[in-house]
Amino acid sequence: MPAIRQLPPSVVNKIAAGEVIERPASVVKELLENSVDAGASRIDVALGQGGTDLIRVVDDGCGMNAADLLLAIASHATSKIASADDLFHVSTFGFRGEALASIGEVSHLVIRSRERDADAGYEIEVDGGRRSDVAPCGCLVGTAIEVRNLFFNTPVRRKFLRASQTEIGHASEAFTRLALAHPRVHFTLRHNERLLYDLPQVASRRERIGAFFGRDLESSLISIENRDGEVRIHGFVADPVHSRGNNRMQYLFLNGRHIRDRALQHALGEAYRGLLLSGRYPIAFLWLEMPAETVDVNVHPTKLEVRFADSGRIYSLLLGTIRKKFLATDLTARVQAPLGALEPGAEAADGAAVTRHRSELVNWAKGTLAAAPASTVTTGDEQSSQSLLELQFDRPGGPLELTRLDRAWEPAPTSPRLEQAGEAAGRRAGYPLVEPAAPTRVDPPQPASRSHLGFQIHNRYLVTENADGMVVIDQHALHERILYEQLREKVLAEEIETQRLLVPEPVSLSPAESAAALDAKEVLAQLGIEVEPFGGDTVLVSSYPAMLANLAPAEMLRQVVEQLVSSSKTPERRDLLDDLLHMIACKAAIKAGDRLAPEEVTALLEQRHHYQDSHHCPHGRPTALVFTREELDRRFKRT
Ligand code: ADP
Ligand code: MG
Repeated sequence: MPAIRQLPPSVVNKIAAGEVIERPASVVKELLENSVDAGASRIDVALGQGGTDLIRVVDDGCGMNAADLLLAIASHATSKIASADDLFHVSTFGFRGEALASIGEVSHLVIRSRERDADAGYEIEVDGGRRSDVAPCGCLVGTAIEVRNLFFNTPVRRKFLRASQTEIGHASEAFTRLALAHPRVHFTLRHNERLLYDLPQVASRRERIGAFFGRDLESSLISIENRDGEVRIHGFVADPVHSRGNNRMQYLFLNGRHIRDRALQHALGEAYRGLLLSGRYPIAFLWLEMPAETVDVNVHPTKLEVRFADSGRIYSLLLGTIRKKFLATDLTARVQAPLGALEPGAEAADGAAVTRHRSELVNWAKGTLAAAPASTVTTGDEQSSQSLLELQFDRPGGPLELTRLDRAWEPAPTSPRLEQAGEAAGRRAGYPLVEPAAPTRVDPPQPASRSHLGFQIHNRYLVTENADGMVVIDQHALHERILYEQLREKVLAEEIETQRLLVPEPVSLSPAESAAALDAKEVLAQLGIEVEPFGGDTVLVSSYPAMLANLAPAEMLRQVVEQLVSSSKTPERRDLLDDLLHMIACKAAIKAGDRLAPEEVTALLEQRHHYQDSHHCPHGRPTALVFTREELDRRFKRT
């Protein structure tokens, strides 16, 4: 066995750097935290090529003198704690004294700094771990730090960096987390000379949230506030009309520090149970304050995860606070007419109707509706709820068109309609809200819908026969497959039908999402989705595939972007266009539970034979099961 050796400091630092500095966003986070710790009131961030070429952070904080500069870049040198005891009373972001040393180890680092009442500033450089002497220089009060060529001397790390758009997405997320928590600091962010954010000082966090995610979301925020002993929770949750397909819009801050915590995310999901469709996640901005000694922030290298002394109590506090707030809030007041409707007249009428329906429902669910319309009053609670739901939501005029191409525009199915149903379910069950959204749509037993080719059962399967035996088909899976094939042919032939918006619709996304959307501009154009940058993280949609006309444009774009973001994560990246085709086909297809007219059953069954792969839906689930005649004979003991 080789002899045991003490590692040289530069190796130790490289190892430490590996833990703290993973990508440009980590540098942005560490530098921003230092600036906030230094009491800055203005912080300017500039990045070049996603931060891989340049990261510059300039603040007007307390600055450093010559002696400080030398220490700042030494490892385990910090001004923020003095002893191990202090570790459990940390009120600053930093305390490990590791960030600048680590960054200097894997980049070209220059720090210029000047204390408030000093006549001059000082400068120090660190080049891949080798430092220069401190030299005087002219600079403004505060600190300016430049990090160039990150990972130039650790090629493996450098190789793992993603496209500049992806890195800027991460960096911008780090920026967002800090800026959300510090509304009184003026922040700016530039990328390749383009100004992405200019966030002047504002009085409240709410306004800061609006600056990032749009006034629409801001106005739907419900503020919450509660305490249990020394633990205080406050912040905002979004009305369930707003939700996301992932949990990235759940910002949790503990004593001012952004954290991720599975238990708390779970509590949040529970609080919205019954109010959101499955697969949708609530949006929240929550601040927890508790005595520093009741939480250990030193369990994760970048302090992203923490350990609570009493996590069960915090879980119940969060869950209970939000639920009580929801029960006391009239969620109906917030419903707005869907944006971007194609016919302005219809939009207003529709919006008003949706609002009215929703408020009736909520009233009914709260037990305050005087009397249900005579025709729907029946015996059981369950029964009347069903009738009411049908009355409100099931439009007359029968089944869905198969192609949906000529379907009138109506609110996205993920927004008011089903959420109302879900909400009603939650309210009916009282507190706690236990019932998920789906079960409220009870399928009443209905006579089978027959065509000469087969019939529909349970509003979800088609039964037919072929030469081998009896065939049972999943209607959604089959329709999805057919649409996918049709769509692919059209896209290849550049003949896809698109829906042009009279007024292009601005959609505000997260930095990573807007970067992904603009990155994929060409692919999206092939599908008939036209997007343009519109300042900040807002993207302008001017057209989209007619097949998705049943989704509001903003919702359509969000779905597409979720697909983009998640496909860029899969290691064996499949064809992006293909992923999007699958997603569109899935969204546009009839669903399980949709009742079909006999002609529709015929149309579906006829088209089935035109497509090679029609025995599997694009996700690979079977679309059809065959019960062979032999099998039937055997089961009936005929052989
Ligand atoms: P930590 O933040 O954990 O103390 P860092 O390596 O990030 O460790 O920073 C080391 C020290 O350098 C800090 O404790 C602080 O005294 C000083 N420092 C870093 N950045 C700044 C800044 N922007 N303004 C003033 N002082 C700073
Ligand atoms: Mg620090």
